[in-house]
Amino acid sequence: MISYDGQVALVTGAASGIGLAAARAFARSGAAVALADWNADAVEQAAAALTAEGHKALAIACDVADDAQVEAMIAQTVSHFGRLDAAYNNAGVQNVLAETADTTGQNYDRVMSVNLRGIWSCMKFELRHMRRQGKGAIVNCSSLGGLVGGAERGIYHAAKHGILGFTKSAALEYAARGIRVNAVCPGLIWTPMADQMVAAGQGEALKGMEKSVPMGRVGRPEEIADAVLWLCSDAASYVTGQSISVDGGFIMR
Ligand code: NAD
Repeated sequence: MISYDGQVALVTGAASGIGLAAARAFARSGAAVALADWNADAVEQAAAALTAEGHKALAIACDVADDAQVEAMIAQTVSHFGRLDAAYNNAGVQNVLAETADTTGQNYDRVMSVNLRGIWSCMKFELRHMRRQGKGAIVNCSSLGGLVGGAERGIYHAAKHGILGFTKSAALEYAARGIRVNAVCPGLIWTPMADQMVAAGQGEALKGMEKSVPMGRVGRPEEIADAVLWLCSDAASYVTGQSISVDGGFIMR
C-alpha cells in the first residue's frame, strides 16, 4: 500500500463523490488532508468524520472559480499543515444539456469558470508553493469527455479537453523542478453527479453507456481515488504530463 505518512494532500470538491473518496484514501494512507469545497457544511462534516477516525483533516470552504478564495485555500493549507505535497484538483460541474446552437453564455460561463478556470487557478497557486518547496505532485480531474466529443455536452467536453492542455503545459514547465503534473480521465462513475444526470433526464443514456463499458459495470469513486494516489506518489516518480483513463476500458471502443 502507498504511504503518505508525513505528507500533506489537498483535494477540491472533497465533500462528495470522487473527491470525498480521494480525501478518505489520502487520509487512510497517512496524509494530513485539506478538504475544500464550496459546500461548507458538507465539507465540514466530511473532515469531521476523518478527524473522528484519528486522521488529520482540515475543512476549507472555497469556490474554485474565485481566485482570491483559491489563493486563501492554499495559504490556509500551508499555514495549518506546514507544506503541500499532493494536490488533486477535482471540483467540477455538469453542463445543462443543449446542442451547440442552443447553448447559452450563462451555461458556458458557469461550467468553464469551475471546470477550466478553477483548475487553472488551483494549479497556479499550488505551483507557486510547490515551486518554493522544490517538490510536489498535482493531479487534475479531466474525464472520458476530455478525450472524445459528446452530443449536447460540448461545453463540459471542451473544458475537460482544456484541462489536459494545462496539465501537459505545466508538466513541461516544472519537470526539471521536482514537480509532476498529471490527469485522470474517469469514465462513468456512480456519484451524486450521476444522480443529477438521471434527474436531468439522462437516465436512459447512462444505462446505454453502462452497457457499453467493456467491463460491464460503472466505476466506483474509490477506483479513481486509487489512481490519484498512485499518480501523486513516488511510485509514479517518472510519470508526468500523462492522462490515465480509469473507465473500465471504455476509451478502447
Ligand atoms: P459530485 O457532484 O459528486 O462532486 C463534485 C463536488 O465538487 C461537490 O462536492 C461540489 O460541491 C464540488 N464543487 C462543485 N463546484 C465547485 C466549486 N466551484 N468550488 C468548489 N467545489 C465545487 O461529482 P463527481 O462525480 O464526484 O465529480 C468529481 C469530478 O469528476 C468532476 O470534475 C467531474 O467532472 C469528474 N468526472 C466525473 C464522472 C462521473 O461519472 N461521476 C466522470 C468523469 C469525470
